[in-house]
Amino acid sequence: MGLIAVSQNRRMTDYLESLRRAGGDPVEVGGDETPAAIVARAGGILLTGGGDVDPALYGEAPHPSYDAAEPGRDAFEIALARAAIEADVPLLAICRGMQVVNVAGGGTLVQDIPSEIAGALTHSIPEPRFAIAHEVWVTKGSRLWTIMADRLDGESLQVNSRHHQAVRRAADGFEVTATAPDGVIEAMERPASRFCLAVQWHPENFWRTGEFRPLFEHFVRAVRGE
Ligand code: MN
Repeated sequence: MGLIAVSQNRRMTDYLESLRRAGGDPVEVGGDETPAAIVARAGGILLTGGGDVDPALYGEAPHPSYDAAEPGRDAFEIALARAAIEADVPLLAICRGMQVVNVAGGGTLVQDIPSEIAGALTHSIPEPRFAIAHEVWVTKGSRLWTIMADRLDGESLQVNSRHHQAVRRAADGFEVTATAPDGVIEAMERPASRFCLAVQWHPENFWRTGEFRPLFEHFVRAVRGE
């Protein structure tokens, strides 16, 4: 049960490398296996980055900037998120993955940060992928706070940023655990779960330098039941 199922996207290397360096055993999963079967054989689920979640899934018409994910990904990943939470299988969600988890739980999204949030910071710095874009303020006492305790500067973490969407209303059962100075939600977690944590930035891009290795290490420990 030590396998970590990683949802497929176009660039897998950094996700897989981050998990391996934390002692994890990742396996890519796509639409050829049901979410229930994946959750039954995997010890953990990692939901990766990618395109936008169809806004119809949270009851909105698409903003002109809507950039759909690969066909089938929304339904597959939403079902996978629900199955993982239902079975209390450890779940780490990154960027689009955080948005998927939120929509799966009935939350809503900001569809386009630059046009919807006055005074927003720049949340889209494509390259280099580990470039620091902005800080986030982490909620004291949260799981994220505990995991990153040694890396926090006060309550602040420096993060990269490649997203034009974000969580607007967090799904029931989730607590927002990090925000950018402009108010954009950057992390959330589900306290009732063994490990269910979502971040809007891309910690996987830092595997060479290890800034977010504690996040992957804590996830891997939860997968092992430690
Ligand atoms: Mn950001």
